[in-house]
Amino acid sequence: MTIPAPSDKALVPFVSVDHMMQLIHHIGLEDMMRGIAEYIEADFRRWQLFDKTPRVASHSAEGVIELMPTSDGEVYGFKYVNGHPKNTAEGLQTVTAFGLLADVASGYPVLLSEMTMLTALRTAATSALVARLLAPAGASTMAMIGNGAQSEFQSLAMKAICGISEVRLFDTDPAATRKCAANLQGQGLTVTICQSPEDAILGAQIITTCTADKQNAKILTDNMIGAGVHINAIGGDCPGKTELAPEILHRSDIFVEFPEQTRIEGEIQQLADDHPVSEIWQVLTGQVPGRVSDRQITLFDSVGFAIEDFSALRYVRDQIRTAGLCHMLDMLADPDDPRDLFGMLQRAEP
Ligand code: NAD
Repeated sequence: MTIPAPSDKALVPFVSVDHMMQLIHHIGLEDMMRGIAEYIEADFRRWQLFDKTPRVASHSAEGVIELMPTSDGEVYGFKYVNGHPKNTAEGLQTVTAFGLLADVASGYPVLLSEMTMLTALRTAATSALVARLLAPAGASTMAMIGNGAQSEFQSLAMKAICGISEVRLFDTDPAATRKCAANLQGQGLTVTICQSPEDAILGAQIITTCTADKQNAKILTDNMIGAGVHINAIGGDCPGKTELAPEILHRSDIFVEFPEQTRIEGEIQQLADDHPVSEIWQVLTGQVPGRVSDRQITLFDSVGFAIEDFSALRYVRDQIRTAGLCHMLDMLADPDDPRDLFGMLQRAEP
């Protein structure tokens, strides 16, 4: 007996890592990060429509595994993501991810995608979108502290979206800095290798911290931060995992994605629960101001929020409609008579 072919509705487009890389090259990395930033901005502007919840985290001694769900009432999405700082020593990624979109009306999945690559693009797109709102006008130089998997994406998104022209690299592991500098060759940025975080922040208007360590680290100390800079703090994204000295937080105006999640995971876990913060969607919709003075220190306390992943998946779904670049997965049992699942199984008996 032949196995019945599933109907089209039961076939789910799947974007593999290989197809994702082809899609990025087809669109161009910087154009794709610009496109994802536009989708994130559009979704942040309709913030009230979304179901929002802090991500569901399962912690272990080595790292964390998280589920990040959201819905705009028509489409539901989630991302599975891990964070394991010790993985790189074993040749594994610190962060890997995949995600799914589903049709709210039927509950049927409409997209399954790798998201390790896509997370790097969406994190960088979010950082640059926020820096465009908060960094000092004419910012041209970024310090990039932590030169791992995210670092080139962060650098190129800041170039594509905010117009920076120089990155100053520092990592405690010189091999990571050499890798990042080599990868950024010929990408239209002046790249300077620095020997210390103090050296990296010299002359930088934007300071990005993107390190991975499961502890309350002090990548930036109070005396390193002068007036007028924008800090893009990416790496502190778990309870007990932060990058900034608390004194810096008290001197900064702090901007977050979703306070209920950031108070658990972000730099502000070091502050009182009622410490004032502004939300990015409020800045985008003009309800609260972004940067208001040349001397203000602005801090984006980034942890990564589910709506950014939803936006990135939405972008990919729209792109593959014309670009193809997906496999159709037979992942939903869909009997002709919806109540005859058993009969479908019987007919498939070899
Ligand atoms: P990675 O492991 O590839 O790179 C981290 C780098 O930090 C390594 O090269 C390491 O040597 C360096 N480092 C560690 N301690 C340092 C220190 N004290 N000073 C300077 N460099 C130091 O990790 P990745 O994938 O690039 O991710 C970096 C961090 O960003 C992780 O903590 C991850 O959880 C976080 N992240 C956040 C978001 C978000 O949305 N906010 C998204 C993705 C990743």
